[in-house]
Amino acid sequence: MIKNLSNLKAGAVLLLCLSANLAVAQTKEEKYVMVIHGGAGTLTRKNMSAEKEAAYRAALTLALQTGYNAIKAGKSSLDAVEATIHTLEDNPLFNAGKGAVFTRDGRNEMDAAIMDGKTMMAGAVAGVTTIKNPISAARAVMEKSEHVMMVGQGAEAFAKQAGITIVNPKYFYTKERWDGLQDAIKEDSVKAVLDHGSKKSMKLGTINHDYKFGTVGAVALDQAGNLAAGTSTGGMTNKKYGRVGDSPIIGAGTYANNATAGISCTGWGEFYIRNVVAHDISAMMEYKNMSVADASQAVLDKVGKMGGDGGLIALDAKGHVAMPFNTEGMYRGTVTEDGKIVVLIYKKD
Ligand code: ASP
Repeated sequence: MIKNLSNLKAGAVLLLCLSANLAVAQTKEEKYVMVIHGGAGTLTRKNMSAEKEAAYRAALTLALQTGYNAIKAGKSSLDAVEATIHTLEDNPLFNAGKGAVFTRDGRNEMDAAIMDGKTMMAGAVAGVTTIKNPISAARAVMEKSEHVMMVGQGAEAFAKQAGITIVNPKYFYTKERWDGLQDAIKEDSVKAVLDHGSKKSMKLGTINHDYKFGTVGAVALDQAGNLAAGTSTGGMTNKKYGRVGDSPIIGAGTYANNATAGISCTGWGEFYIRNVVAHDISAMMEYKNMSVADASQAVLDKVGKMGGDGGLIALDAKGHVAMPFNTEGMYRGTVTEDGKIVVLIYKKD
């Protein structure tokens, strides 16, 4: 009897220890070191072939692995963001670098920005047509000039001087994007179209054109605890010459501050500019002490109420991540400190 009682006690103690361990395991939060997006839009399983989905998942995995390797090797979050975005700019699946959409007059005019959360230095280029990797030109503006933003030919001349790779504008041509422009013109010769099928441009889907989904962005947190954010895009199909979206505008499409978060947006740029989305998220965190998740959702809700669609990624200095969107899907992914990569596309992935 006495023996049985002590056995019982031992069992109870063991159970207590086990549940305490479980509680510890459950509360141990994963620390994210990088989050990326490849555009938000009308992304449904129905519209996606298995091959296409596999290609996107592979591209996003490569991008995350590239950023993770940089962070693991002790490089800065800026290096990680730049290297990650290179892989996406070089991939014609995305509306950035090779694969950028066409303007009304048949050009590829690209925008990009990068920001350092530690120093709050920032660099951006807009309307560039010859820079192979616009994100690197943005970084050169930040690091090698006293300016924040350069546009058009001036930005291209500066990039060349800074040793950035310059290409013939033909490099950016892809048949899919060209056909996309022709379809958009047929439908409405003056209306710019989000490459990821906004609610208002959904009817373009009926002419079987896939307006997808491809502005790219990355936010990273390095081993020194510093955040950086970057965004790169071709903008909107059929946009008027000289149109600049939110991506290269610091505080609208791109922002980073170690005290709050790094943020990169994708969506209908005009709404993101008017809501100063990225900075608004940072400000809500700073002034109202909101979490990165709550602030991101609150600001995206404002965009949605005004009629804008899209999404964003945000990462705070403690490694908390947010990836809200008000479209049917968003190409997105994360990597945690331990190297675990997660890639998501749909609302319910
Ligand atoms: N925000 C970008 C722009 O308006 C487009 C996008 O995210 O797809 O230029």
